[in-house]
Amino acid sequence: MTKRVVIATNNAHKLAEIRTALDFEGWEFCTLSEVEPYQEPEEDADTFAGNAYIKAKAAHEHTGLAALADDSGLVVDALGGRPGVYSARYCGVHGDDEGNNAKVLAELDGVADPERTARFACALCFIDDDGTRVDAEGFIEGRIGHGLMGDGGFGYDPMFLPDAFGWSKSLAQVTQAEKNAISHRGNARRALKDKLKNL
Ligand code: IMP
Repeated sequence: MTKRVVIATNNAHKLAEIRTALDFEGWEFCTLSEVEPYQEPEEDADTFAGNAYIKAKAAHEHTGLAALADDSGLVVDALGGRPGVYSARYCGVHGDDEGNNAKVLAELDGVADPERTARFACALCFIDDDGTRVDAEGFIEGRIGHGLMGDGGFGYDPMFLPDAFGWSKSLAQVTQAEKNAISHRGNARRALKDKLKNL
């Protein structure tokens, strides 16, 4: 029997990634654009997991289907965890990657390399059609560089230097496959898959 899972996003790129990551037999994924429209909830939790839950719960309740949502962002230690859940709109304009990067770099002006530690976090929340909830998280550790490097990726990638590469290159200077192998999102998806296998 086919199991339909709605992903609480309109982002086709995320749909493609999820489809590859959770390749369970008989599972069929769809996005919000393919279900009856509903008012999307405000993401006002103070954690990534809390926001992922808000989105998954709304999708499950409105569609009656199993639902999956994710929330992610950058956590900089020297900034007390900011931008955190405000990552997408840190400079005040939603999705302004250039402004967001510039604000973090300015706030870290004068901070020495060993104190520039940071991580990306990704929280996933799956709610099955019977209401069973499964959460998973993934992280990637690194440091914030002193400028932007590379033109791949998106968001804060050009200034994030993963520990895994010895801080020699940014996440915007690796292939998508290299990023997936070590990224917060890749790690969260692998963790969720392991948990779902044991359901
Ligand atoms: P979302 O939860 O995937 O919408 O991500 C929220 C924000 O966090 C994005 O707008 C980016 O600014 C930042 N972010 C999340 N994941 C990444 C990543 O893999 N690279 C760079 N920035 C990211």
